[in-house]
Amino acid sequence: MEIFGGEIVPPFECPKRMDIILDRIKTVELGPIEPPIEYGMEPVEKIHDKAYLTFLETCWSEWEKEDFNGEAVANCWPTRTMNAPHIPRHIEGKIGYYALASETTITKGTWEAALASKNVALTATDKVMQGERAVFALCRPPGHHAAADQFGGYCFLNNAAIAAQYARDNGAKKVAILDVDFHHGNGTQHIFYDRDDVFFLSLHGDPMDTFPYFLGHTDETGDKAGIGYTANYPMPPKSDYKIWKQSLTDALDKIKAYSPDLLLVSLGVDTFEDDPISFFKLKSHNFTDYGALIADLELPTVFIMEGGYAVEKVGINTVNVLNGFEKAC
Ligand SMILES: [Zn+2]
Repeated sequence: MEIFGGEIVPPFECPKRMDIILDRIKTVELGPIEPPIEYGMEPVEKIHDKAYLTFLETCWSEWEKEDFNGEAVANCWPTRTMNAPHIPRHIEGKIGYYALASETTITKGTWEAALASKNVALTATDKVMQGERAVFALCRPPGHHAAADQFGGYCFLNNAAIAAQYARDNGAKKVAILDVDFHHGNGTQHIFYDRDDVFFLSLHGDPMDTFPYFLGHTDETGDKAGIGYTANYPMPPKSDYKIWKQSLTDALDKIKAYSPDLLLVSLGVDTFEDDPISFFKLKSHNFTDYGALIADLELPTVFIMEGGYAVEKVGINTVNVLNGFEKAC
């Protein structure tokens, strides 16, 4: 379930999204479809806090023990007036400590799904590291809102961050992450904020107006060694492709100047005009256009699925990006 506008509603982030994207991939014969390989916990532990991972693994069983009737959901947080030096023992406090928002619940199977999703991202990354020009990782749940020790925004493990670190540990000296999801990739930004070996760039709805509300402003440009290696492009409600493309062009120029060994694209298609929880105005054919622009970088590229909630069009829009990319290669 999801809490939206004060109501309990079916989650916008639903399994049907994946079925529709996969169907579209098969319809247009985009390329071979392969299952993920198991990568274990080592690449995950390089990004995520150990106690957080234990929390994700055990949350549902602890919640069940309390005889609660619903899914595990946070309703109490360490907010601005509490420094939270202690992690509560009780699961209700613990989930508040690790949650960044209340729309996302944890239930039976959440942990297993998160593990499978990071395997998809790692499998795709490995293939590109071994010489493929580009691979699409059809990940669910998404990852870009997950920080080292926080979940929310439908994300539990940060697939793009895990993939970037894996690439760094396996020969890539510099990695760029281009986040084109409608929402700011707060988790990815936070994870790499003080590093210069992973350049994070995000195009998104202005956080003054939309989720995740508290990160993603233009003046967030990195810290310590990472100064200059975070770039944010917040855009106002009703931004269309003309505006969005200006941001993309600037981001692509920055990536080109950085000259990474690998490009990861956090691919969310919730920039679409009919998306139910977003406010940009991109049309389906715009996705084809920007796929081609990304291809012009001529970089080994991993596309990692993030959001996109106009379910009936999520297949067309996602595959349009990939097709636009492929045709321009
Ligand atoms: Zn999104």
